[in-house]
Amino acid sequence: MRFNRDVFIKELEQQQEWDVIIIGGGATGLGTAVDAASRGYRTLLVEQSDFAKGTSSRSTKLVHGGVRYLAQGNVALVYEALHERGLLLKNAPHLVHDQEFIIPCYSWKSKLMYWVGLKFYDLLAGRSGFKKSSFLKVNKVLSAIPGLSAKKLIGGVSYSDGQFDDSRLAINLAQTAAQYGGVLLNYMQVNALVKNEKGVISGIEAKDLETGKTYQLQGKTIINATGVFVDDVLKMDKPAGKPLVRPSQGAHLVLNKSFLQGNSALMIPKTDDGRVLFAVPWHGKVLLGTTDTPLNAHSLEPRPLAEEIHFILKTAGKYLVKKPTHADILSAFAGLRPLAAPGKNTNSTKEISRSHKLIVSESGLITITGGKWTTYRKMAKDTIDRAIHLGKLAKVKCITDQIKIHGADGVQEPGFFAIYGSDASQIRKLMKSEPELVDALHGDFQLVKAEVVWMIRNEMARTVEDVLARRSRVLFLNADAAGKLAPAVAALMAKELNHNDTWIAAQVLEFKGLVQQYLLKYDEKEDKT
Ligand SMILES: Cc1cc2nc3c(=O)[nH]c(=O)nc-3n(C[C@H](O)[C@H](O)[C@H](O)COP(=O)(O)OP(=O)(O)OC[C@H]3O[C@@H](n4cnc5c(N)ncnc54)[C@H](O)[C@@H]3O)c2cc1C
Repeated sequence: MRFNRDVFIKELEQQQEWDVIIIGGGATGLGTAVDAASRGYRTLLVEQSDFAKGTSSRSTKLVHGGVRYLAQGNVALVYEALHERGLLLKNAPHLVHDQEFIIPCYSWKSKLMYWVGLKFYDLLAGRSGFKKSSFLKVNKVLSAIPGLSAKKLIGGVSYSDGQFDDSRLAINLAQTAAQYGGVLLNYMQVNALVKNEKGVISGIEAKDLETGKTYQLQGKTIINATGVFVDDVLKMDKPAGKPLVRPSQGAHLVLNKSFLQGNSALMIPKTDDGRVLFAVPWHGKVLLGTTDTPLNAHSLEPRPLAEEIHFILKTAGKYLVKKPTHADILSAFAGLRPLAAPGKNTNSTKEISRSHKLIVSESGLITITGGKWTTYRKMAKDTIDRAIHLGKLAKVKCITDQIKIHGADGVQEPGFFAIYGSDASQIRKLMKSEPELVDALHGDFQLVKAEVVWMIRNEMARTVEDVLARRSRVLFLNADAAGKLAPAVAALMAKELNHNDTWIAAQVLEFKGLVQQYLLKYDEKEDKT
């Protein structure tokens, strides 16, 4: 497989001009790379940190039309997302599955209302491979969600949506783009845009954060797909421009499965302050979220706020028999929605559009922002179509609705290795050829040495965090466990990547600092941004 940083750096140094350069390696940028490379354009993607380090590893893990947006009357958005949901189930079945959601009902009126709404949702979805919604009696609701409180419950409505592993999908998208000839580099930061004498954008200046080397790279089309960072790149183009994005933070908590037994997810359509709260089974744990907190600043590692944690625990406690407390949190993480901001300043991010925005600057820079993970493919298609329309690229048809994402083709293995899709057999082969890699890294956890080596050799993992946060999800599932695994992962990485003991010590120290944040062991008063 051609997915190796050293190989990509060599290709970068040999290429005179790219057809498409994409800044940002989240869902939007990676989807755009798959689209551009599969249309045959010479494609480069640069990511300042790791692929999916930003919002794209911090979602609620739903591939969905958005029942909430339907309630807001945004039928076109829901229709588009439901279509994309069907394509993702077809093209990445190793990472996306049909998940039953149950809305508990406490009055006949609400039960009828949700049922009608969800029938419309089914209708919009058409024949997309997901189960249809249905009425449930109290006993059926309680047998599907044994941990749900029966108090005042009169029944429920069941519906289906997709559930996925966001950062694994991101890595597989990067590999798919590479299979079509794309070059993708993590730890490559764009610091400036290059313009020709007419003021038209003609390239980027990017710094390899591993070596410190700076590159001037020429491209016909430059795409800004940097999520909540789009305004930083827009400022490189036009320092006095108005902000395009308003960040809105969403926090999540991960709990032990005992809080939500069974295989069904719980959907609370209207919490005390009008939000939606999900409790979703995810990799043997329960994911609770999310919130919608307007912020005025953005960062790559946002912290859940004390009031967000309190809100999630309190709301979940109202519905679950076993009330979760602070001490039950295995991991907590937050993500920033790159919501397209309206012209005037508003404090309610619920009012800001969830659909994507595509903007072409006077210089020719194309910026794509907003949207959802679920609609990344359509966002990518619209972006490349726009570049063609602008005369920057020769006309070639989009084929991404037909492309199987890396790992989808070939024999699939059930169980723990299922997330690797058809790569699971390659990891098994590695375990046979190098038997010393068969062992688990730590007695208590399932991650085996061969997986880590696979991630280094074939998934471009460069740091301990790359392995434990995004290629495996241990940091997000059980932060304490991730901290315990860090020294063994660092030692294995050092051997593979030729690093010394100083590197090992620095990696472990840095990662353990991050673990403290996911365990909420910091002073929350610092975080009132
Ligand atoms: C709390 C929350 C829950 C969500 N849940 C869902 C869900 O369940 N389902 C769903 O469909 N959607 C969901 N979303 C939305 C979805 O996660 C986002 O729309 C999507 O991940 C955004 O991807 P992106 O690529 O635009 O941004 P990001 O993932 O943030 O990627 C942008 C990348 O650009 C890089 N970058 C920035 N500046 C530079 C530079 N100068 N040089 C190089 N690289 C740079 C960053 O490092 C970053 O990795 C959720 C969002 C949030 C916040």
